[in-house]
Amino acid sequence: MDIYKHPTFDMACEQFDLVADLLQMPQSERERVKFPKRSLTVAVPVRMDSGEVKVFPGYRVQHHLSLGPTKGGMRFHPDVALGEVAALAMWMSWKCALTGLPYGGAKGGVACNPRTMSINEVERVTRRFTQEIISFIGPQIDIPAPDVGTNEQTMAWMMDTYSNQFGHAVSGVVTGKPVDLGGSLGRREATGRGVAFLVGRALDTLGIASSGCTAVVQGYGNVGSVAAQKMSQNGIKVIAVSDADGGLYNPKGIDFEKLDAYIAKHRTVLGFTEAEPISNEEILLLKCDVLAPCALERQITAHNAAKIQCRVLAEGANGPTTPDADVILNERGDVFIIPDILCNAGGVVVSYFEWVQDLQSFFWSEGEVMDKLYRILETAFTQTLNMANQRKLPMRMAALSLGIKRVADAKRQRGLFP
Ligand code: GLU
Repeated sequence: MDIYKHPTFDMACEQFDLVADLLQMPQSERERVKFPKRSLTVAVPVRMDSGEVKVFPGYRVQHHLSLGPTKGGMRFHPDVALGEVAALAMWMSWKCALTGLPYGGAKGGVACNPRTMSINEVERVTRRFTQEIISFIGPQIDIPAPDVGTNEQTMAWMMDTYSNQFGHAVSGVVTGKPVDLGGSLGRREATGRGVAFLVGRALDTLGIASSGCTAVVQGYGNVGSVAAQKMSQNGIKVIAVSDADGGLYNPKGIDFEKLDAYIAKHRTVLGFTEAEPISNEEILLLKCDVLAPCALERQITAHNAAKIQCRVLAEGANGPTTPDADVILNERGDVFIIPDILCNAGGVVVSYFEWVQDLQSFFWSEGEVMDKLYRILETAFTQTLNMANQRKLPMRMAALSLGIKRVADAKRQRGLFP
């Protein structure tokens, strides 16, 4: 599958191969479970505000179709590439299987930089991209959601573009929509709240009290900002945060009310005066109890894994730790990893609730949503921890093997067509 060649895809394959060995998966099954089922690459021509027409590459990868429609986010970022999207789609499959959702994994995106584009340009990219992939998505086919660089507004435009094509409102085609359009209460906060909940479970497991702990959060986007604020409400002092421009460090703790007011004005954490500036690389090396990388892939690598100084590594991002960093961390044995497919699963779990509510046109209270979310995360955490303890495995291997085994079992039970 050379078309997916990319360091992030290599990383996802390396993880898969380790688990396939562990599960003693027959060779004949491996490629079938590992490689994405199908992918679509499109050219997205967009008229920019200047009048010039730019063509952006867009992608959607659906990893497996064995358990239901596919599910996963849409990323708008300059580095989006087919192989990266394919890896993220694989991880979505294992994440959905680990949490028991009736989905295969998917991911998509457009290689563009929404930070340098006007809101009208972003809207035109979103609508034209949706049009280009319209026959590839749908409530029973593949259901997009927000990811890096996209948000509720992006999902509203996708839903509107899709609905216009079909002549009636189709709310179930995307999740992470505004609540007024059929979005779920609690969806926006779900990933970050899930991270904070699982951090609490990890600290309990280690016998460490939350109060008195410190945390560092790389990435102050939808996931990192909610995770940081929720951890702080839970008594953990958050001493550093960052965004794509750089980071902030204050050993006395970050004042989130003031920081959010600053970001609302300046659209960046840079220049906030009530903390010291710190780089995105340095932030990962700060001494803390909880380190939460909530930005992009491949941040903790062979170069810095020996130097990170935390007790719990809470992976709010997808794929933040490379396999060679895993080897170093496992050898060290002093870092409890909450692996990405578990740690950030809160988002897709509430996306699933949103899809169910849309299909039934029957909406739940925020309390119901959160209660059901925490039950699912608790079960997935306990199953992963039990598996890790019983089989003497790192938490990542335990979580991946639970997810991958469920997908392999489904494929085996359905058999091979024709
Ligand atoms: N983009 C999110 C993730 O990586 C959410 C996906 C979804 O809600 O479908 O898990």
